[in-house]
Amino acid sequence: MGLRRKQLLSRRHFCLCCMSSAAFAATGGWLTPRQAFAEARGLVTLIKDSAASSPVTAYKLRGNVSVLEGSGGNIAVLTGPDGKLLVDGGIGVSRPQLTKALSGLGPEPLTHLINTHWHFDHSDGNEWLHSVGAKIIAHENTRKHLSEIQRVEDWDYNFLPSPAGAIPSEILSANRSLKLNGTSIEMKPYKPAHTDGDLSVTFGEADILHVGDTYWNGIYPFIDYSTGGSIDGMIIASDSNLAAATDNTIIIPGHGKPVSNKSELKAFRDMLVDIRDKVAALKKAGRTLEETVAAKPTAAHDAKWGQFVIDPPFFTKLVYEGV
Ligand SMILES: [Zn+2]
Repeated sequence: MGLRRKQLLSRRHFCLCCMSSAAFAATGGWLTPRQAFAEARGLVTLIKDSAASSPVTAYKLRGNVSVLEGSGGNIAVLTGPDGKLLVDGGIGVSRPQLTKALSGLGPEPLTHLINTHWHFDHSDGNEWLHSVGAKIIAHENTRKHLSEIQRVEDWDYNFLPSPAGAIPSEILSANRSLKLNGTSIEMKPYKPAHTDGDLSVTFGEADILHVGDTYWNGIYPFIDYSTGGSIDGMIIASDSNLAAATDNTIIIPGHGKPVSNKSELKAFRDMLVDIRDKVAALKKAGRTLEETVAAKPTAAHDAKWGQFVIDPPFFTKLVYEGV
C-alpha cells in the first residue's frame, strides 16, 4: 500500500475505549462507538491521504516489464513502441508521482490499462489514465462494481459510481490474450476470491505474473465479502497461482513487497489454510466471533503477517465470516 507503517500504526492503534471517549468529548457525545471506530479507522481516507504524499518507486523486473510501488496496489508496467500497458491504476491523487515514474520508464504514450479488480486502490487512477489515452480492460464484474454505488461493510464505506471515463470499455469473463511490444499478455479471470471480479495478468516471455489482491506479500490480506470474496476462494486462487508459476516466475502481489516468488507465495497459501482450519474448528465448536478472536487462532503467524493494515483481530473476523 505504500504507506509508512509507523505512521499508520500510530494513527490506528488507538484502543476502542479511549477513542470513544475522545470522540465523545470532541462531538458532545454524538458519535456511537461504532461510528467513532469507523471515523478513527477511516481506512479509505487514510490510504488516499497517504498516497498524496507517498513517493512512487519503480523496479525494473525482466524484459520490458517494471513494477511501481507507492500508489495503492502494486502497478505493473509494460513498455515499448506500441505504447505503455499498466496493470492497475493506483490512486488518483498520486498522479504527479505516477506521471514522473512512468516517463522515467520511457517516452511512449500510455495505451492500455488492465484493472485486476474494482477496489479504489487499484482503479481510482482510471479516470486520469483514460484521459491521457488508456483503454481500460477489466472483468465484467469489475465494470459492474465501478458503475454502481458499492458498500464495503468491512471498511464501513460507500463508494460512489465512477465517472464515465473511469469505466472499463472492454470487458472479459473468460481468458483473453493480447500481443503488445513483442510480449504475449494473458488475462485470466479467477473464480470469486478477493472479489468476484479478480483477474491475473501474465507477461509470457518475461515470465512475470501479476496476481492482483489474491496475494498480499508478507501481510494478512483483505477479503471483500461485500462483492463476492471469501477465504476459501482466496485459497483456491492461491493454489491456481502456485500452479501457474515456476521457481523462475516473478510474482507481483497486489500489496506488500512488489517483487515476489513461488516460495513466498506458498508460505502465504499455507498461512491461509492453517488459519482457515483453526477458525473453522472454533466456529464449529460454537464459539462466537468475539470468543474466536479472543482465542487468537492467528497467533503463530502474527509476528510475520500481522504487522500491517489488516491486523490479527480484523483478519480473524474476515476468515470467520467465510467458514
Ligand atoms: Zn483489493
